[in-house]
Amino acid sequence: MDLYEYQGKQLFARYGIPVSEGSIAATPAEAREAAERIAAPVVIKAQVLVGGRGKAGGVKLAADPDEAEQHAEAILGMDIRGHTVHRVWVERSSDIAREYYFSITFDRGAKRPLLMLTTAGGVEIEEVAEKTPDRLARLHVDPLVGFEPFHARRLCFDAGLPAEEMRQAADIMAAAYRAFVETDAMLVEINPLIVTPEGKLHALDSKYTVDDNALFRHPDIAEMRDLEALPPEERMARERGVTYVKLDGYVGIIGNGAGLVMSTLDVVAGAGGRPANFLDVGGGAQADEIVTAMEVLLSDPDVRAVLFNVFGGITRCDEVARGILTALERLDVKVPMVVRLDGTNDVEGRQLLADAAPPNVHVEETMLGAAERVVELAGSGA
Ligand code: GDP
Ligand code: MN
Repeated sequence: MDLYEYQGKQLFARYGIPVSEGSIAATPAEAREAAERIAAPVVIKAQVLVGGRGKAGGVKLAADPDEAEQHAEAILGMDIRGHTVHRVWVERSSDIAREYYFSITFDRGAKRPLLMLTTAGGVEIEEVAEKTPDRLARLHVDPLVGFEPFHARRLCFDAGLPAEEMRQAADIMAAAYRAFVETDAMLVEINPLIVTPEGKLHALDSKYTVDDNALFRHPDIAEMRDLEALPPEERMARERGVTYVKLDGYVGIIGNGAGLVMSTLDVVAGAGGRPANFLDVGGGAQADEIVTAMEVLLSDPDVRAVLFNVFGGITRCDEVARGILTALERLDVKVPMVVRLDGTNDVEGRQLLADAAPPNVHVEETMLGAAERVVELAGSGA
């Protein structure tokens, strides 16, 4: 889960990394109020889960509350690389002498956290990494040893940090490492990590990603998830606890069990179709869960036909058929559906569907037959 800059900075503050005071604002008036409260020049920053905001015009300095309001007006609603700005972060503006870059990622190859530091930070960091990679000091930390002062000295020395900044840099790195480990992060990045004209180091931006699989250990961070940033059907899936993945095609796929769902994607692709998404209802799904699954899947506007592929083990095919029929009663289903039921109570399940004979539902006996049928019904217009 990616955090917004202001959320990452909340965690920075919790771990003792210096950040600027600020407030979040959803309207130009709120931005003005925030600037009045701060009573100093501020910077208005688009809060979107994508980098390069500065270059896209999503970061603007404001000398007074009037200007803060104007900039917020311009930035709110802006589209930054496909992300609409719903909120801005208004923080006390900093004076910058130098911009550094510091990050901690997890290097899967090395099976260790990787720390990177350079004095050439700021908005051109990608170019630095590409054209002058030797300016980027890199160091792995053995997770069993943890972050030690010698790691900090080594990184500062390799990056060429002035000696008088080492103590502050070491404290920030140690705090960031602790944050990285304790919050189960995948990425903690500070770019720029600035040096003020007075020689103070300070985090001016944050990029923070927490491992989704560890969120259960961090209910406070899990709560930061912004459901508004998700497409409506993904939001619905999250809220209802179903496994849903959006893809870029036009055939909706529901199955039970990850293995079956994955092979269904392959078979649909093999039949010449492109999956719009897939949804795994898991083992032992009851009729209610089938209804929820269909509701989520059908709210994706890209779906032109649905393939329902269920192998009954613990899951009973008659229960699934009941779920499908209930969903058809409750939802206004406009797209054709192909249903393939196999395994426990499949005969009963198919019989239920045959008796109800809902229009636009096609029962197939084999997975390949079902895939070919659904691709044909979805048409080839995409
Ligand atoms: P990004 O472009 O999405 O990475 O957004 P950043 O938060 O990193 O801001 C981009 C750039 O804006 C920074 O590298 C700074 O040069 C500049 N910037 C951000 N905050 C301030 C500030 O408080 N004062 C000044 N002078 N510049 C700032
Ligand atoms: Mn940045």
